[in-house]
Amino acid sequence: MEWVYSRAAGNATEKSRQMEESTGWVYSRTAGASSNATDQLATWAAWPTCVLGRQQSPVNVITSDVAVAPALDVGIIPHLKVAYELLLKNTGVSFQVHETAPELRVLPPGGGQPVAAEPPSTKGYTMLRGLRYNWYQVHYHTPSENTIDGEHAALEAHYVHQLADEEYQGEGSLVGTTEQLAVVAVLYDVSNEDACNEELGAFWQDFPTDTAGGHAAEGAPLYAASSAPVDFGASLTEALAGGYYFWTGSLTTPPCTEGVHWALLKTRRTVCAAQLDRLRVSLAASQHGVSVNNRVIQPLNLRIITTTSGGGGGRWGGGAAGAVGVLTILGCLAVPCVLIALCVVVLERRKHWRGGHRGA
Ligand SMILES: [Zn+2]
Repeated sequence: MEWVYSRAAGNATEKSRQMEESTGWVYSRTAGASSNATDQLATWAAWPTCVLGRQQSPVNVITSDVAVAPALDVGIIPHLKVAYELLLKNTGVSFQVHETAPELRVLPPGGGQPVAAEPPSTKGYTMLRGLRYNWYQVHYHTPSENTIDGEHAALEAHYVHQLADEEYQGEGSLVGTTEQLAVVAVLYDVSNEDACNEELGAFWQDFPTDTAGGHAAEGAPLYAASSAPVDFGASLTEALAGGYYFWTGSLTTPPCTEGVHWALLKTRRTVCAAQLDRLRVSLAASQHGVSVNNRVIQPLNLRIITTTSGGGGGRWGGGAAGAVGVLTILGCLAVPCVLIALCVVVLERRKHWRGGHRGA
């Protein structure tokens, strides 16, 4: 998940441009190669959390080790607005829809730099376990960053959100920081029939690509607009019925900030080879021949990946995680049982007492 923050203010756009200019990190130093752990360690070391963090992303989900957490079932409810005009951004390290900001920005007629939509609008939000997270943007990685039982998918979408905190406007606001982020992630496989993905098809061809090469090195993202409406919320809602995995991780690009809530949907989508190739060719043009944009898998350390109980693939956890889960549930059941027992004892005693009193 790439983090380049953009505010509506003009100088912030300049700031984000400088941030991109100052980045020197790479997925690999070798053209045509897959992601390289050594190259990433060497070029990401300027951001200490990327190296020293203990809750880094992406991760490998071992499906036999996940712990069922019934609390997740109340889950994720998207309320994303239908986007009638998409702001398409080639950041040099990804294809991204919308800017990383709560407010909707659009490209003025004739192009140039994005401006605030008129009338002003947000992009909607997602309820995540009872809390409201504003939706900022979605971007794509190939191959997938997170893996399932050691296997990459061909593509992974990251829907980036941040906890809504309208009551903290200005100083102290989460907006503009990398705090309290949540990412809803979706995996895509190449279709057996090589059928192209309809949702992506509405805008994928419109992403600007870097025909000159090396635009990321110059720090200038490329923008384009797409007029085809896309209902990301509807497709997410549909996919969410299949359940999801949940854990705490980090941004998958510098500064690798931790405390990011990750929800990886179990329902997978498909793409065609041509759609995948379009992103790969574009990445190669802006990354000196490197056509991937996935960070290598990070150790789980002490983290436990949890799962919804519905949607298949879930079970009563594995090993210690399962035991903890079952004991927690038994503990929760025990409390009302003890209370009921106490009530019965008290009532019985009252009965005895009253009976004895009357009898006396
Ligand atoms: Zn991402």
